[in-house]
Amino acid sequence: MGTSEKIPKLRLNSGHGMPLVGMGTAEFPPVPEKMKSAYLDAIVVGYRHFDTASLYKSEEPLGEAIQEAIKLGLIGSRHELFVTSKLWCNENHPEMVLPSIKNSLRNLKTEYLDLFLIHMPMSVKPGPHSFPIKRDDVVPLNLKGVWEAMEDCQNQGLTKAIGVSNFTTKKLEQLLALAKIPPAVNQVKMNPTWQQQKLKEYCARKGIGITAYSPLGGQSNLSPNPVFTSEVLKKIADAKGKTVAQISLRWLLEQGVIIVVKSFNKERLQQNLDIFEWELTDEERQKISTIPQKKAGTVEFLLSKEGSLNSVDISDIEITE
Ligand code: NAP
Repeated sequence: MGTSEKIPKLRLNSGHGMPLVGMGTAEFPPVPEKMKSAYLDAIVVGYRHFDTASLYKSEEPLGEAIQEAIKLGLIGSRHELFVTSKLWCNENHPEMVLPSIKNSLRNLKTEYLDLFLIHMPMSVKPGPHSFPIKRDDVVPLNLKGVWEAMEDCQNQGLTKAIGVSNFTTKKLEQLLALAKIPPAVNQVKMNPTWQQQKLKEYCARKGIGITAYSPLGGQSNLSPNPVFTSEVLKKIADAKGKTVAQISLRWLLEQGVIIVVKSFNKERLQQNLDIFEWELTDEERQKISTIPQKKAGTVEFLLSKEGSLNSVDISDIEITE
């Protein structure tokens, strides 16, 4: 896809169009100069959708890259971009939502977000965040209060749409029962090795868009990446003259979901956009449907080994079906 061609959009239940492929901005540890340069490369290559979060420390370098892109004439204005940011668990409290989005807007040097998400269905005590999250710090999430504050952000024009991330069908059910504005999007881990069929069908029925994160299996070096080591995907890629990454991304596109994919390498950024002008065959789709499923990390992955959950049941903060 050349820079002149536009990435197709999905219409959200808020009425806004969201580009089907966005750039994931997270890399740990964050290196601001490297990040800014990668985001500028992405704009040059044709990305117009960026997925950031206060947790990633990528808001400031993204804000700087956007300013620079305008100065260089790569884009006319910020309005040409779709920017998502997220509320981290230490600010997942009703009275902290508004200050949090305002801080994100300051970091991004913009007046509005396109999409603001609750990052996790979990609340921890206010204060500096730690990883892993201390079990003792987890407190009950006031979902009603937080969602009302999210709705307030949208009503005040600080974001065009609101949504959630890492919500299970059970958690979405709770949210839909109290929401005046339904979530536009649920951002979850999804790729051919974790296909999320149940959640996908539920969200389709409820008119909630899905954004797939870690579409290439994620960045963890702790275990072999299930996408890049899949023999099924490799065989399809070789036969088609595509890369495994492209097969994975094309499969997601054909599932009707939005993708946020991270690369800080210009060639791979380009490669990850070259997925619109060809398709998988029925036989290839069938083979992908048989790939053994590797369940995405449960909430245990985020929590410290020590300590105990005092006032919260683990089933209430689960992030995986
Ligand atoms: P990912 O997009 O699955 O990418 C994993 C790794 O693949 C990257 O480190 C990248 O390294 C490499 N890669 C990219 N394109 C490639 C290609 N064509 N060929 C070979 N390798 C390639 O991982 P992710 O960062 O976990 O997910 C994407 C975004 O989703 C994040 O950046 C973040 O914005 C979001 N996310 C959200 C949550 C949440 O809780 N809501 C959780 C995780 C991630 P190089 O940079 O070296 O290319």
